[in-house]
Amino acid sequence: MLPLKEKDKPIIQKLLLAGCCARCVLRFCCISVHAPYRQPQEEILKELQAFISDPTNSQDSAAPESTCAETESLTAAGLETHEDPPCKRAKLEPGAAPGQSEDKAAVPPTAGLKDGESHVCVACLGVLQELCGSAQAVKIAEAVKSDNYEFDTMVLSVSLPAQLCVREHSCWLHVKKEVREKGMVLDKDDVVQVKEAFKWTMQGLVAKELGGVAVVAKSSFEVGVEFIHPDTDRDCHFLAFICPDCFKPTKNKQSVFTRMAVVKALEKIPDSLFQRQYSCPPAAPGSSCSRQAVQCLHASVFVAGRYNKFCRSLPQTPWLIDGERRMESSVEELIAAPILSSFRADGFNFSSSGREDVDVRTLGNGRPFAMELLNPHRTRISRVQMKQLQEAINASSDKIKVRDLQVVNREAMSRMKEGEEEKTKSYTALVWTQKTIKKEDITFIDDIKDLTLDQKTPLRVLHRRALAVRQRVIHNMNTRFLDSHHFYLGLKTQAGTYIKEFVHGDFGRTTPNLCQLLSTDTDILELDVESVDVDWPPAIPE
Ligand code: ZN
Repeated sequence: MLPLKEKDKPIIQKLLLAGCCARCVLRFCCISVHAPYRQPQEEILKELQAFISDPTNSQDSAAPESTCAETESLTAAGLETHEDPPCKRAKLEPGAAPGQSEDKAAVPPTAGLKDGESHVCVACLGVLQELCGSAQAVKIAEAVKSDNYEFDTMVLSVSLPAQLCVREHSCWLHVKKEVREKGMVLDKDDVVQVKEAFKWTMQGLVAKELGGVAVVAKSSFEVGVEFIHPDTDRDCHFLAFICPDCFKPTKNKQSVFTRMAVVKALEKIPDSLFQRQYSCPPAAPGSSCSRQAVQCLHASVFVAGRYNKFCRSLPQTPWLIDGERRMESSVEELIAAPILSSFRADGFNFSSSGREDVDVRTLGNGRPFAMELLNPHRTRISRVQMKQLQEAINASSDKIKVRDLQVVNREAMSRMKEGEEEKTKSYTALVWTQKTIKKEDITFIDDIKDLTLDQKTPLRVLHRRALAVRQRVIHNMNTRFLDSHHFYLGLKTQAGTYIKEFVHGDFGRTTPNLCQLLSTDTDILELDVESVDVDWPPAIPE
């Protein structure tokens, strides 16, 4: 039994005559329990017809809103007995149904219909009819299965053509007049949306086809179903003449007639103006909506770790100059390729705690990095499998090595970036001196603590960074004499210190610098990052 009330009768009557489908009638009766929508539409229609044609079957005869006066006025409005229901023309026998929808009762049941002509709902354009049922659920589930995703729950999202809002508004105005006359109130917000009715009907069916996966309101896996109806796209166009402000072209949108814009315009337009421009109820469509290919999307998965770079000719990211690629590979590509294929992701975003120049190695425990994997199809990866993935990356190249590879969440990722400037980094530089040096000439450097530098933006990065003077601190240094013109300089510095510039002075743009300290020209021949002191991601025991 449908949870209908006596007051719903005129609405049901009017909408069936107007050419609405059974589920749309339930929507306009504000039925918010899901079960009635899940019945086959023929069943719902039979129940609706039985309900309106039987004056004694009111389920809420005790309810205050079902007054005698109302019943009388319904009879007066042309509700007849079940021997001769005026809405019989809306009866949906498979393959045969009503056609034109003039708002006149007592039209012969098959008026204007050819045999076998199917009736497409004027409100939902078929979305809640043939496009909503077991056969469609099977097709959607097949599409999901063929994409081969791993997921435990899913959310079903529905995208509808914007003109459905116009048709909905038209149907609403159509019944509103009637219910006002009856002294009843129908709030447009209480009308169940097509989207909701579709989900209530389909979710369970799709879930069953997918082996009982839970369909929930929020999930990291989304199955998107989109309907289009090009034949009626023009339904929206009159709105642009009345409300040009609502339809401003935007860069990313193909059409100005977005659902949002249409809803906004409909809120602005006075009823009388709408009714002059658009038929109430809407004209019968010639065809149903068509469903676009199912679009599946899995929320990003985040993977973090630390990397070493052992090569002095490997950029961190692909190096392009005027669109031409320099260097055949990069750190991020070497790391990403095996991870992408393992998670079967569509793409990635790579970030790290700072970065090294192409000719700088990163040694020690490595540099923390994190990757966002876009639309991963595989998401269940055990610790053992992560370990194997790490081994695969390390076996694929001798230029890099990763450790502590693990799945993290989006929030944890931000820990890598926060307070980055306050962290310390340790380096080893191979320094050349113009002047001949002895071991004793450089040992005084070992005693320098917390040396504050003023660093003007280096010449080599000036093309991509704003000119500024930044203060950075070298916490301590140590020296290892090599020969009369070379020594190794170890430095522990605040993150973001430009080491090369400290050594060669960058034409006086970094002060103090090593040239000044040693009173000779000095240059940097090699640089290694020895440690990046960020305590993330957590170490994974071998
Ligand atoms: Zn409908």
